[in-house]
Amino acid sequence: MDFTLNEEQTAFKAVLRDFVEKEIKPVANEWERSGRYPTEIVAGLADMGLFGMTIPEAYGGLDIDMVSFALVFEELARGWMGVAGILGSHSLSCWMIAKHGTEEQKQKYLPELATGKRRTGIGLTEPGAGTDLQGIRTTAKREGDEYVINGTKMWITNARYANPLPVLVKTDPDASPAHKGMSVILVEAGTPGFTVSRDIGKLGYKGPESCEVVLDNVRVPVENLLGGVEGRGMQQVLSGLESGRINIAARSVGIAQAAYEAALEYSKNRHAFGQPISEFQAIQLKIATIATQTQAARLITYWAASKADAGERVDMESGMAKYFASEVAIEASLEAMRIHGGYGYSTEYVVERLYRDAPLMSIGEGTNDIMRTIISKSLVSGKTSIG
Ligand SMILES: Cc1cc2nc3c(=O)[nH]c(=O)nc-3n(C[C@H](O)[C@H](O)[C@H](O)COP(=O)(O)OP(=O)(O)OC[C@H]3O[C@@H](n4cnc5c(N)ncnc54)[C@H](O)[C@@H]3O)c2cc1C
Repeated sequence: MDFTLNEEQTAFKAVLRDFVEKEIKPVANEWERSGRYPTEIVAGLADMGLFGMTIPEAYGGLDIDMVSFALVFEELARGWMGVAGILGSHSLSCWMIAKHGTEEQKQKYLPELATGKRRTGIGLTEPGAGTDLQGIRTTAKREGDEYVINGTKMWITNARYANPLPVLVKTDPDASPAHKGMSVILVEAGTPGFTVSRDIGKLGYKGPESCEVVLDNVRVPVENLLGGVEGRGMQQVLSGLESGRINIAARSVGIAQAAYEAALEYSKNRHAFGQPISEFQAIQLKIATIATQTQAARLITYWAASKADAGERVDMESGMAKYFASEVAIEASLEAMRIHGGYGYSTEYVVERLYRDAPLMSIGEGTNDIMRTIISKSLVSGKTSIG
C-alpha cells in the first residue's frame, strides 16, 4: 500500500500549485467578496487544458486519472473554492456526454468543451425538488422532430456560460417508477424560451454564478436527447455524480488545507502574554486536530479516486470521501477562525471566506445526510464492506 503520488502526479500538482499561488491567491479575497467573475483565471484553466479533464483524448481532452482529477480540485480550492466550482459541473457534464452521448453529440460538443471554447453545467435541481430528483416537474413533450421543454431549474452553476446545458426532464411524466420516464436533454444557449432569469444571493461561493433558469416552451431537436434513448436520464446523472462527489471531496480537502496553512502561520506570528500563541497548548491542540483531519480527508479522497481509477463502482467510497472531507472542511475553517481571534471574523483574512465556502461542500452533489444513507444502503445490502 503506497499513499504517495507518482512522478507525473507530483509534477502536475506542482504546476497547479504554481498557478494558484500566482494567478488565484493574490485576487481571490477581493474578487470573491465583490462577486467579480474570474474571467482571467478561467482563461488560464483553459490554457492548461483543464476543461477537457474528463474528455477522451480522441475528442481533444486530457482524460486524466481520477487522482489527478482530485488534485486539480484540491489545489484550486486551496486558493479559491469558487474557481474549482466552475470546473466541477462542467467536468461532470463532459463526462456524462462522453460516456452516454451519441457519436454525433460527442463530435459536435466534446472538442469545443475540451478547449473551454464551449462550457457547460448541469440542470437537475428545481424550486420544489433537489434530493428527490424523481419529483422534478420539468417536462419534455415530443412534437414531431422536437421536444418542447417546460419547467424551472434552480441553483444552476455556470448557467450564464453553459452551451449546451444538460437538463434533467420527464419525457414520460406518468412513468412508474418515475425514473423510467426521465431523460437528459442538451439545451443550447440562445434557444428561444430558455432564460437565465436571476442570480441567487448566497453566503459564499461568490464569483461563479448560481442561477434560476426558466424553460418556457423551449423547442429542442430530438437529436439533443442524451444518448438518443428516452428513460435513461436518472441513470446517466447518477453515474456522473459518482465522480462529482470526488470533486467535492477534493475541494473540501483544499479548503481544509488552506485553513490549516492560515491557522499555522497566524499562530506563529500572533503574540499574547509575551509569546507566540502557537506556544499555548490550547492552540497546539487545534492545529494538530486540523492537520490530522485534513490529512485523513486527503487520504480517503485519494482512496476513493484510486478505486475509481481501478474501474470499480465507487458509490460508497466517493460518498464516504465527500461526507468526511466536507465535515472536516467545515470544522477546520471554524477552528482556524477561532485561532485568528477577532481577525478571523475580518474580511481582511482568508479564513472568513473559507468559513463561508465550506458549508456548500456538505450540500452540493447530494447532502451529507444523503451520503450517509448511500453508504449505509451499500453496506447493509452487502454490496460493499469495510475492514
Ligand atoms: C451554491 C449552490 C450551487 C449548486 N449548483 C447546482 C448545479 O449546478 N446544478 C444543480 O442541479 N443543482 C445545484 N445545486 C443544488 C444542490 O444540488 C441541492 O441544493 C442539493 O441537492 C439539495 O437539494 P435541496 O436544496 O432541494 O434540498 P432538499 O432535497 O429539499 O433537502 C432538504 C433537507 O432534507 C434532507 N432530506 C431530503 N431527502 C431526504 C431523505 N430521503 N432522507 C434524509 N434526509 C433527506 C436533506 O438532507 C436536507 O437536509 C446547487 C446548490 C447550491 C447551494
